[in-house]
Amino acid sequence: MGNVKKKKINRFKMSFVAGSFISAVMFGILVIAAFGLTIGIFGIYITDSKLRDENEKAKKLAQMYELTGGAAGSDTDGLPDGLADDYIITDDAGAILAVHGTDTCDLENGGPIDILSIAEHAEQEIHEELNIGYDTEEVITVYPDKQFRVIVPGNNGKVTIDDRALGAYLPGGKNAGMSNGLLGSGFLKLPFWIDAPLSDGRHMVCRSYFSFHVRELKILGILAALIVVLTIVMLICLIVYICKTIRNKKRIEHLLMMDEVTGKHNWMWFVREAGREVRKGNAHYAVLDVVFVNYRNFCVCHSVSEGDKMLRRVNDVIEGRLGKKELVAHHSAAHFCVLLTYTDKESLENRIRSMIADLENISSEHKFSFWVGVDMVGSTSESGSERSACRNADIEKEYNNAGAARATITGDDSAIAFFDDAMVEEQKWIDMINENQDRALLNEEFLVFYQPKYDPRTNELKGAEALIRWKSPAYGMISPGRFIPIFEKNGFITKIDHYMLKHVARDQKAWLDSGLSCVPVSVNVSRAHFIESDLAEQIRDIVDEAGTPHELIEIELTESAFFDDKNALISTIRKLKEYGFAVSMDDFGSGYSSLNSLKEMPLDVLKLDAEFFRNDAGDDRGRIVVSEAIRLARNLNMRTVAEGIEKGEQVDFLADQGCDMIQGYVFAKPMSKDDYVEKMKSGRGTREDADA
Ligand code: C2E
Ligand code: MG
Ligand code: MG
Repeated sequence: MGNVKKKKINRFKMSFVAGSFISAVMFGILVIAAFGLTIGIFGIYITDSKLRDENEKAKKLAQMYELTGGAAGSDTDGLPDGLADDYIITDDAGAILAVHGTDTCDLENGGPIDILSIAEHAEQEIHEELNIGYDTEEVITVYPDKQFRVIVPGNNGKVTIDDRALGAYLPGGKNAGMSNGLLGSGFLKLPFWIDAPLSDGRHMVCRSYFSFHVRELKILGILAALIVVLTIVMLICLIVYICKTIRNKKRIEHLLMMDEVTGKHNWMWFVREAGREVRKGNAHYAVLDVVFVNYRNFCVCHSVSEGDKMLRRVNDVIEGRLGKKELVAHHSAAHFCVLLTYTDKESLENRIRSMIADLENISSEHKFSFWVGVDMVGSTSESGSERSACRNADIEKEYNNAGAARATITGDDSAIAFFDDAMVEEQKWIDMINENQDRALLNEEFLVFYQPKYDPRTNELKGAEALIRWKSPAYGMISPGRFIPIFEKNGFITKIDHYMLKHVARDQKAWLDSGLSCVPVSVNVSRAHFIESDLAEQIRDIVDEAGTPHELIEIELTESAFFDDKNALISTIRKLKEYGFAVSMDDFGSGYSSLNSLKEMPLDVLKLDAEFFRNDAGDDRGRIVVSEAIRLARNLNMRTVAEGIEKGEQVDFLADQGCDMIQGYVFAKPMSKDDYVEKMKSGRGTREDADA
């Protein structure tokens, strides 16, 4: 699993937790806000409207009191019975002038009563009957902006309604359901006092009520119930949402971790599970890259769905052989990743062999082969101790190591390869090259070496091949075999080919100008370069810039180049020939030989690969192949160069067969520019067996 995918899953988990948390918090805030808002609005509405009504009523009573004879100074006149319950008439200073009703002070105690005693009395009365608390220190006017005030008597004669006490009378309050007529017919009544000023400076303090109609209470109840229901519904929605999200998360995780082909686990799952297991460090672990070698061919011969059926069997066979703490998953195409535990390398290898034996027989009609790359976690010196390697296990890296080991396997048969220190070194080397290539090119650390080619009959110098060397300040002289394949992979080879061509063209021009008898020098051009459609023009321009005659430059195409875009290749060769460059096919006879390519490509030179002349190539069959190849080239109007010739007798044989040139240690190894100048000056070569 890529780190990117792992991060995606973690991000998904985080967002899920954060999402749920935020939803819960939002929901809580919403409910509290809704509840508070409703209660607040209704509270304000009720107190506001009720107080306003009662105040109006008190004012009207005061007017009527005055109209019906409550003249200034009178302490006996009052409103007609039934118009008002209880009220007190006070002077401006608060001294009681008249009392009416039963819930006020007792006149028989003598009057006028000072404000304090009334207050105490009233306090008692009120307290007993209404249990209204009050502020003993100061008057608090409720809704001063509404231009009326609500008072009850206190120590200083003016006591505010205490809304806490009022609350006690609301349903559920501590005095709810109290008798004493609080609940009238269809009403809940909460008494209090209102001061209505009279025109002559006196005050009429009326006993009033907050009266709530049962209907209003019902509405309030329904509202509360609605809020409760809404809260429950929202809670259910939230729970359903969370459950759904959890289920979706599980489903997505399942999809992410499942392999479409085998229906079992995939690479992403393997990385997670194997990582967890290895990090526990409870055993010795090995990560395997198992490749079903014949998969592609099998799909071509049968069908992809048949191939997939085989992949399922492979997965099942491996799974059947796993113990506790061991895992298998399908990685991609023909690859499987496996985690095994082991006690020692030998028993691990035996186990893998017997697993391969089972896998080879998954079909009764076919015999398949499997390559297995093995990385024993913590086995290389690179990874430090095994324990720390387990603790810091990076399954992707371990699998990559197993893959690197597997990539060293050649041939068609089943095989096992273990990742080791040499492979670590190889990887380090590749990294070093990647990091240093640009700097080396800038510093001209790449040198051109020349290897002469001689006529086998006359020993005359006929040509040379330019071969690159890297003179590294850190590693000394490095041969091309150690860096050219890396450049071919990372694309740097195109820059190298240009570099070599430029230097060879300049050298040739300089030698020509100095009067040396120059011979054509061939320059290797990598197949990666042939993607560029204007390659022939590029080559021509580089050579022209140096002012070198085209016939002194030959272009060598590596044979595998012929497997790229054939049409583009033919057109490039034609153009090169048109511009006057000779074109040769390098390494003919190695790896990807194709006689067909000889038929189609208008080439000038055929370079017979050194493989023709190695070891037992001197036997009769080898000789026949070589002489026929030379004959074939001659019939196609091509000259031949035999590469890697190390012995004099080989030169004689090739001379007899009509080979045109010999390039080999028997005459000369690749050499520096200065040494090659000497060879040019002499013009003739001398033979010496390479191992002599
Ligand atoms: P190549 O183009 O086939 O070059 C011939 C190789 O055979 C050279 O190896 C040369 O030193 C070696 N050789 C020649 N005669 C003998 C012999 O008698 N015995 C033995 N054992 N070897 C002999 P070298 O220089 O190591 O180059 C290896 C390969 O690297 C070249 O094979 C070529 O494919 C590549 N290469 C070298 N220089 C360049 C370059 O400038 N550009 C590109 N694209 N590839 C290059
Ligand atoms: Mg070559
Ligand atoms: Mg060659």
